[in-house]
Amino acid sequence: MDPALGPPDAMADKREELTPMMRQYFDLCTRYDNAIVLFQVGDFYESFCDAAERCARVLEITLTSREDSTGEYPMAGIPVDSAASYIEELLEAGYRVAVADQIEEPAETSGVVERAVTRVITPGTLTEDELLASDDNNFVAAIARDGANETESGDTDDPDTLALALLDVSTGDFLATSSTSRETVADEVSRFAPSEAVLGPGASRELVPQGCMVTPYDETTFEYDRAAERVREYFGDPDALLASEAEIRACGALLSYAEYARGGASGPSESESESDTDGDDTDTDADATAAEIDSTRLEYLTHLRRYDPREYLLLDAVALRSLELFEPRTVHGREEATLVGVLDETASALGGRKLRDWLRRPLLEPAEIEARHDAVEELTRAVQTRERLHDQLSGIYDLERLIGRISRERANARDLRSLQNTLALVPDVRDLLADAESDRLQELYDTLDPLADVRELLERSIVEDPPVEITEGGIIAEGYDDDLDRLRETARDGKQWIDDLEDRERERTGIGSLKVGYTSVHGYYIEVTNPNLEAVPENYERRQTLKNSERFVTPELREREDEIVRAEGRADEREYDIFCEVRRQVADEVERVQALAEALATLDALVSLATVAAQYDYCRPEILERGLERQCHDLAIEGGRHPVVERTQESFVPNDARFDEDRRLAVITGPNMSGKSTYMRQVALIVLMAQVGSFVPARSATIAPLDRIFTRVGASDDIAGGRSTFMVEMDELATILREADGRSLVLLDEVGRGTSTADGLAIAQAIAEHLHDEVGATTLFATHHHPLTELADDLERAFTLHFEAGQEEGEVVFHHEIEPGAAEGSYGIEVATAAGVPDDVVERSRELVAVNAATEVDVEVEAEDAAFDDLESSGTVETGAGVGTRAETATADGGDDPTDVAAELRALDLAHLTPVEALTELDRLKRLLEK
Ligand code: ADP
Ligand code: MG
Repeated sequence: MDPALGPPDAMADKREELTPMMRQYFDLCTRYDNAIVLFQVGDFYESFCDAAERCARVLEITLTSREDSTGEYPMAGIPVDSAASYIEELLEAGYRVAVADQIEEPAETSGVVERAVTRVITPGTLTEDELLASDDNNFVAAIARDGANETESGDTDDPDTLALALLDVSTGDFLATSSTSRETVADEVSRFAPSEAVLGPGASRELVPQGCMVTPYDETTFEYDRAAERVREYFGDPDALLASEAEIRACGALLSYAEYARGGASGPSESESESDTDGDDTDTDADATAAEIDSTRLEYLTHLRRYDPREYLLLDAVALRSLELFEPRTVHGREEATLVGVLDETASALGGRKLRDWLRRPLLEPAEIEARHDAVEELTRAVQTRERLHDQLSGIYDLERLIGRISRERANARDLRSLQNTLALVPDVRDLLADAESDRLQELYDTLDPLADVRELLERSIVEDPPVEITEGGIIAEGYDDDLDRLRETARDGKQWIDDLEDRERERTGIGSLKVGYTSVHGYYIEVTNPNLEAVPENYERRQTLKNSERFVTPELREREDEIVRAEGRADEREYDIFCEVRRQVADEVERVQALAEALATLDALVSLATVAAQYDYCRPEILERGLERQCHDLAIEGGRHPVVERTQESFVPNDARFDEDRRLAVITGPNMSGKSTYMRQVALIVLMAQVGSFVPARSATIAPLDRIFTRVGASDDIAGGRSTFMVEMDELATILREADGRSLVLLDEVGRGTSTADGLAIAQAIAEHLHDEVGATTLFATHHHPLTELADDLERAFTLHFEAGQEEGEVVFHHEIEPGAAEGSYGIEVATAAGVPDDVVERSRELVAVNAATEVDVEVEAEDAAFDDLESSGTVETGAGVGTRAETATADGGDDPTDVAAELRALDLAHLTPVEALTELDRLKRLLEK
């Protein structure tokens, strides 16, 4: 265990002797033993001992020490006021952070100041705006298995259900799903990319992708009864809301975890020592005080939405990555070079998140898809309305996070004012939709509730430009509260009286230079210069003697002053109370605010899709009925473009695609760099975009919605990662073969390259045949293994497409135009020339090709591929020249025994050869044959 976590060893054997403050620290570390405890001491958050040393190193802050009668302890502190950026660094270093705040005023207590953990900050439970990406959700996940940790209530028909619950603590989005397939659950996890996962008993780490923090958490929170009670408390009858016991466990545990992160009662260590809870007793938390429960309850969690993974177009982790929906594939890829990058023209954070959610979960039902298309179409036409909507929407605040903060009592007066400003925009937004024709926009018109009552309350109660602090007054508007007004009146009267005092006293005493002043230490005074001292009246009391003057007060001045101070103090308190009350009243409207946020988010996402469609000349795809049978191959695209590549390419060549019952599997050939991969991805992206509700980059498109998109890129194209790349490739292919069906779109890009030629070819071919014969998926199969084009001849519903390359002045030019039929030759050597491979090597290659052509062979040697793949990955081009020899047939030519060469070729580990090694090897083998 990390020594920076848990109670410090250095204090362990002297807990009883520790000073009260250090004992507090020790106990909090014991209780929050999976987090670094930041312990407030005045203006600093301190850490001690090992944790201090760790903080000093990670945060690059000074390590000091604290000495008392029990010893000297290393200490490191960060300023409370700028804690956020330090906390972020601790999170990045892989830590959770428990923030222990002073919860009473030091001035008001005689003993040690009481401290409590008010938040446990973890990657998945962040609510701090400055630590969150505004336009994306941040999910924490819980994964649970049925009946894994108890027997009594685990009486279920299928004990192997795995459930996933997802919560965005900052916005209140709460989702749950389950499946009996591990893969499906793993796919859902990657769809939502949670930053943290709480695993219940029986849920394995492998379900969670790398980079997601895995949090071991109190197993008892996953117990059925306890979890069900949690769900009931928040959302009502768990059985009505959720579909499996596992889902209830996951949701309940996640709620407990979210409460724990708010400093809730059920810390993990505490519950470990708790005696086993009685299954029948639903009030297991009875020992936690009501106040504790209240303060950690997350009132803004108002919806729990259970969904079935089959409700949406399924994209597994590999497809998400290879289609570059959210992340560029290359490390230095630019953020804009993703689908979301080209589609996101949203004006608000709300809209940005909504668009991402749509992209994560493309629709299946034609009616739903077309409802979005209708709205997008209307907005593409109504240019002015669209632009004005965009302008208005860019002024709205992040209502979801705002209402979350309000509900968690973490909002200040400025936040309330932001809410009010946003509400003030709603009537204008709504007016812009008054004449809308599409159902979706009309619906939005109807649901956009400007919350006039809330807005009016805020307008009346909060001043226009309130301060950040909420305890120091200056927040509540004049005229909102009689008591407050009276207190202010008193203070104002008093001040006025004092303002007038100078004139009055000058007149009364005849001292023209008499002055009334104020210091924070001594309060109000009347100052008389030394020459005038004999004119001072009886009732003046001396306060202070200065060099040239004396300062006095009068009993009445003192009295007035007390009155002002009292009134002002009470006014501040009163303001704070009113503020909290107003905030609570607003919090009561959480569901209406959330509904408004949802409507604005949807509108923003639609406007964004329309903006992009208009600007980049997208067309509205025609959506076909899905039909009843499992088969579904109708897909026709005319003049399709790759939405991302077309933005970076000076002139992008549009291409058609046509699939139907009799054309299900396209074998696509062509030299490398001719456009195969781009073409396949563009087909997949157009389908996906259409199902998201977007228009598509094409002249026209007709699409029958598909259920799943699989993409696999040959292992040698994707060489990172620890496992054998070939193993990974086969693993992924196995998944496709198992899970794809007639409603899947499958892209296979140069599969089977990770092993020796013959194996790779055989596997690729067998896979294609299986997809064609058994699975019946719509399949695009790109290869530069020429023999595979013959596949299309044997398979009834397969057809070939190819990309040509031409030569101009000895250089290769790619036209990027797809054509029917198989490619005739490849242009590997020309590509190599263009890439700057030295002349002698090129020459030698030409010789080799000539010799090999003479032997009339048709199977490729992979070595050259592998060689130039590395060139490709270094930013230049690769070649796929069809040089090689089929040893088995070549024996007829006599000469040296070529089977040796064949054996050696087979034995080559291509994935691990450098280009130079490959060329050398090729050369050696060739010499062998020529001998
Ligand atoms: P392949 O998979 O055949 O090796 P790619 O699809 O990777 O080829 O395309 C190589 C490059 O060619 C792309 O990076 C892109 O710059 C360009 N390209 C591909 N398709 C087109 C097209 N239709 N119009 C213009 N340029 C294209
Ligand atoms: Mg390619």
